Amino acid sequence: MRKVKLPGGENVPVLGLGTWFLGESSSKFEQEVSAVRYALERGIRLIDTAEMYANGGAEEVVGAAIKDLDLIKREEIFIVSKVLPNNAHFEGVIQACNRSLRRLGVASIGLYLLHWRGSVPLQETLHAFQVLQSSGKIRNFGVSNFDSRDMEEWYKCEGGGALATNQILYNLSRRGPEWDIIPLCKTRGVPVMAYSPLEQGRLHNFPVLAQLAARHGVTPLQVALAWVLAQENVVVIPKAVKHQHIDQNIAALEITLKAEDYDLLDAAFPPPSGPSQLEIL
Ligand code: NAP
Repeated sequence: MRKVKLPGGENVPVLGLGTWFLGESSSKFEQEVSAVRYALERGIRLIDTAEMYANGGAEEVVGAAIKDLDLIKREEIFIVSKVLPNNAHFEGVIQACNRSLRRLGVASIGLYLLHWRGSVPLQETLHAFQVLQSSGKIRNFGVSNFDSRDMEEWYKCEGGGALATNQILYNLSRRGPEWDIIPLCKTRGVPVMAYSPLEQGRLHNFPVLAQLAARHGVTPLQVALAWVLAQENVVVIPKAVKHQHIDQNIAALEITLKAEDYDLLDAAFPPPSGPSQLEIL
């Protein structure tokens, strides 16, 4: 699978698996563990999760899915997790990370993000990230839902240059970041991580996607995913529990959109013509 390089040098695959809403119901636990395992069997090596999702329940699903893998294979899996803004003070970050490591059953998290900006000074959170990195508990750190001004502030902090990503809402119907955040990330050599790339399934109903899906012999949501995957320097993390959806999302890596496809998509989902507030889900 195609990879992008994080500023720290580690290469990560452009397609991962999201886990929001996993772990919320014990009756679905086994089905969700099996979905994560299936994704791993099919070659997915990046999993996005967060302490927020089901209050740690999603991390437990991921932990259960990777528990029986041998050590070498487990180390191949790149886990992204996030600390809540309420826990973003120094001690809170350290403790939240320790809880996440326990639930995930791993010694180290590949990429640890501040889920969104709260009231704790960025320098304090960053300092905790540095301490976690020095002790090997996290390998890279970054932010999520930061607009370009937040990012600039982060960069002004001591050690802020080590930012590994900004995870943001980005899909065909949410192109605002193309105006400022994505160019800023490009200048800084930081990959963008696109969350809700399918707009949680809502992109399904757009006629232009049905038209292009028929042209390529795929589904409308595969076209939507192929469009995000085709963006340079972007990691995409669709969430899917249904095995068929996991298969379709992996197959979207093989879809090559043509210039005329992009024109149709740009007409239906115009790129931004000015700055806008960063949208959040
Ligand atoms: P999404 O990935 O855009 O959409 C997920 C929904 O689409 C699920 O209902 C899934 O169904 C369905 N789906 C997946 N693949 C499909 C396919 N090929 N065809 C039809 N339906 C398909 O939405 P998301 O979960 O909000 O975003 C993805 C991940 O990004 C999250 O899970 C989370 O890890 C991360 N995220 C981060 C933030 C943040 O603040 N940093 C915010 C939101 C999301 P099934 O599950 O039934 O298969």
